[in-house]
Amino acid sequence: MTKLKTLTAGLLIFSMMSCNQEASNKTKLSNSNTENPFEAQVDSILGLMTLDEKLGQLNLPSSGDITTGQAQSSNIAQKIEEGKVGGLFNIKSVEKIKEVQRIAVEKSRLKIPLLFGMDVIHGYESTFPIPLGLSCTWDMEMIKRTAQIAAQEATADGINWTFSPMVDISRDPRWGRISEGNGEDPFLGGEIAKAMVEGYQGDDLTQNNTMMACVKHFALYGAPEAGRDYNTVDMSKYRMFNEYLYPYQAAVEAGVGSVMASFNEVDGIPATGNKWLMTDLLRDQWGFDGFVVTDYTGIPEMIAHGMGDLQDVSALALKAGIDMDMVGEGLSGTLKKSLDEEKVTMNDIDTAVKRILTAKYKLGLFDDPYKYCDVERAKTEVFSEEHRAFARKVGAESMVLLKNENQLLPLKKSGTIALVGPLANTAVNMAGTWSVATKQEKSITVLDGLKQAVGDQVNILYAKGSNVDFDLDFEKRITMFGKEIPRDDKSDKQLIDEALMVASKSDVIVAAIGETAELSGESSSVSKLQIPQAQKDLLSALLETGKPVVVVLFTGRPLAIVEENKKVPAILNVWFPGSEAGLSIADVLFGDVNPSGKLTSTFPMNVGQVPIFYNHKSTGRPLSNKEGRFEKFRSNYLDVRNEPLYPFGYGLSYTKFDYSNYSLSADSMNADGNIEVAVDVTNVGNYDGKEVVQLYIRDVVGSVTRPVKELKGFKKIDLKKGETKRVTFDITEEDLKFYNYDLNFVAEPGAFQVFVGTDSATEMMREFELEN
Ligand code: BGC
Repeated sequence: MTKLKTLTAGLLIFSMMSCNQEASNKTKLSNSNTENPFEAQVDSILGLMTLDEKLGQLNLPSSGDITTGQAQSSNIAQKIEEGKVGGLFNIKSVEKIKEVQRIAVEKSRLKIPLLFGMDVIHGYESTFPIPLGLSCTWDMEMIKRTAQIAAQEATADGINWTFSPMVDISRDPRWGRISEGNGEDPFLGGEIAKAMVEGYQGDDLTQNNTMMACVKHFALYGAPEAGRDYNTVDMSKYRMFNEYLYPYQAAVEAGVGSVMASFNEVDGIPATGNKWLMTDLLRDQWGFDGFVVTDYTGIPEMIAHGMGDLQDVSALALKAGIDMDMVGEGLSGTLKKSLDEEKVTMNDIDTAVKRILTAKYKLGLFDDPYKYCDVERAKTEVFSEEHRAFARKVGAESMVLLKNENQLLPLKKSGTIALVGPLANTAVNMAGTWSVATKQEKSITVLDGLKQAVGDQVNILYAKGSNVDFDLDFEKRITMFGKEIPRDDKSDKQLIDEALMVASKSDVIVAAIGETAELSGESSSVSKLQIPQAQKDLLSALLETGKPVVVVLFTGRPLAIVEENKKVPAILNVWFPGSEAGLSIADVLFGDVNPSGKLTSTFPMNVGQVPIFYNHKSTGRPLSNKEGRFEKFRSNYLDVRNEPLYPFGYGLSYTKFDYSNYSLSADSMNADGNIEVAVDVTNVGNYDGKEVVQLYIRDVVGSVTRPVKELKGFKKIDLKKGETKRVTFDITEEDLKFYNYDLNFVAEPGAFQVFVGTDSATEMMREFELEN
């Protein structure tokens, strides 16, 4: 037997061992520091590996199909054969993935299978609303189901690892990536993080329809100075722990298999090289036992951060707790030298390699490297009728009705509608940002959706009305990646005239306007929070006709639409609803679905108010009037009130809900006790509907200052017309805890105020005491 053959035989035995082992280890990925069930197999393989092969496992080049950042990858196949690649990402198609996996397991010396990652962020081909929109459903079962479907489709197409959920808290709508997260609240963000991880990973990661999740971007990526992407983050530990870290921790508690480092610095050290973050907090304090991958070129980017040359920053990253290097090739390129110079140890390298190999075992890849490569599955399970029907439902559920004067909505299924706006007939913009796998041109436009839903009852006239914007350069930047909305030869005036012509023949105007898909997302920060001017002009012209106007607002961020809010009778914020967009929109416009979405990020009055969020502190000089009127020498602005345009938790319905009979089961509780909060919610309007009942608590006196209120619970209920339900919440000491000055998680005795209502602006209901 040649040496190679002996190795192969050895590996086969390991594979068989792993197979048996896996059968008895079909449990959820555990985050606890329990024994690694695959340790023996992993150690055996490690013993066979050369240094080059070890470093290969830490290397995650991009497939080259879809690239971001500055790096390019080449000669991938050869590198795989040489054992110099641990995984690849963003390759689409099961056939391609099977081919590449074959190189790894048939041609490389140790036959170690590859991980195949992808940014499966809000669905795969069946695309759901952008995460910010999805979060507005406040429906954890629904959110979990979207992740399950995404996993089913992606794994059918060869993917075994997703770079999701993205759980970065953001309070700054200038930041384009606010669209990829779940808004501003850590509690809600944590619930969503858990639902997503559970949805992707299921109970059993060895199944071929679940995939490994990767919570990102650890940490604090959503708080860049001035809202500019990749910019510096600087905040106190107190703020980090109380307001930003919980969603990542919740994902770890849910057993997330991997974590992605963020681009920003944390406390003066880039996250990618931050040992306190990646080891002390993540592993030692939170008990994370998966692996950590950098973000795209995160290691070499530390050179520009001023942390040293490629060798320095690569050693720093490994020492900090990074296991896999996305595209940077710093670990694979420099660690040999660092080992020779004793800047890192073999143990440092082995630790990272073991984590990667363990992940491959957890996924069952050693057992069957082709388990996610069933070409037949892809044909039936991807973009199925069932998944698309669910996407239509979720799309409708994510929409937030911002205004509805005189019950203009829902629209009647009769008469003539003028549908206008540059976003009315563009399939490629419906899925929104970071939808790598979606078939953009197959998404349903607003025009098609309306026609399909009511075309035989309603006369629908269409005109584009304007280009996306007057500024062609800006327009190009916001319609990249195949999301162009072709310009025609008509002048701006001709376009508006056409729109006015169809408007004149209609009973109601529906204006599909707002942001294009690429106006939010990565590297899409802005300094103004407005609908592009060409579309604003179109809207003004439409309003001047005197006909009723409904704005169908596309956006990936909160916008300061003060003027629109003043002048337009009905505004339905649809975010980017996903592959079935037009149908989801039709469902809500015509009342087949009563909107129930509630904002998860505050809409400001103007950019100057940013950052603006509901769970802020009180200053020593708060306003003394509830109306927000200006007061000299108080904390406010001369030119705008402190209040937002629409607060966190806000969203209207076609029906109306009444809150009454508030009660607390007691006026005080001790540390082991609990208090029940109850309220009657009655549907007093004319439609069946859903309401998200929200519970907020204020800790009145603290050893450190505490927010004016914090979300501590919510329930989404269904109420038939005329129906009343009593909604209850149980408050325990856990709900009253926070990180004190010493970063201990404690509840302090004293008074607490309770707020229960329809949004975060709701008034205080009662007070109770936590006893000593
Ligand atoms: C983004 C990540 C993403 C990665 C891989 C980076 O530019 O920040 O969110 O997962 O690219 O595509």
